Amino acid sequence: MSGDRPKYQRVLLKISGEGFCEPGGFGIAREPLDRVAAEIAEVAALGVQVAIVVGGGNFIRGVTFAQDLNIEEATADYMGMLCTVLNAMALQEALESRGLTTRVQSALTISRVCESFIRRRAIRHLEKQRVIIFAAGTGNPHVTTDSCAALRAAELNCDVLLKATKVDGVYDADPKTHPDATMFRNLTFKEVIDRRLKVMDVAAVDMCERHNVPITVFNLFAAGTMKRVVEGEPLGTHVHA
Ligand code: UDP
Repeated sequence: MSGDRPKYQRVLLKISGEGFCEPGGFGIAREPLDRVAAEIAEVAALGVQVAIVVGGGNFIRGVTFAQDLNIEEATADYMGMLCTVLNAMALQEALESRGLTTRVQSALTISRVCESFIRRRAIRHLEKQRVIIFAAGTGNPHVTTDSCAALRAAELNCDVLLKATKVDGVYDADPKTHPDATMFRNLTFKEVIDRRLKVMDVAAVDMCERHNVPITVFNLFAAGTMKRVVEGEPLGTHVHA
């Protein structure tokens, strides 16, 4: 595809916390961090505008953490949001060590550490080819970073939401426990919602449908896949109207 214009000009990439640690691990590890940064750098090198929403599940998921510690769910959610800031800061360093220019924008104000989320400023950064990393989710409890990804993709007029996962796409059963599971190549938003397929949480899928932002679910751990998706190869599962 080299020489051709990429299919997408502005993308929103959602990376879950699990993208920053070894499988089943906790926190941030160097190898996965470097791998994620390398994949993003390849896409940015195409001249594509890249915005990233990072999750925080490698540290805390609000609902389970609240139960484990017997604390209020909203408190655990704010703690979860702060954990996404750790991932954002690590990713910023990893990307900048590869020569990219980046900005972190947080939905919770942490003015000594990063910018606050300001939509028009974010758009300006993208236009200047700065990779933006969105931290602290939406800034509100009781939602996930998937919802944040859908929201930012919609309000920044992204051409696609790229949902990075550990598997190649969306299957009709869990491919780890069902070796005969079949992967969907294409799905409509309606099919995802009606069949309760695990693409992203329902609120996120609904937001994408309402704002006509397609979603491509792809394997972050298969090197080069994200770049190929952005160039227009039909890899992973594509969810559309
Ligand atoms: N969270 C939140 N509001 C948001 C985004 C995240 O309350 O807008 C909290 C929530 O507790 C969530 C945690 O941050 O469980 C980590 O985010 P998420 O579970 O989405 O991370 P991922 O699964 O993508 O690693």
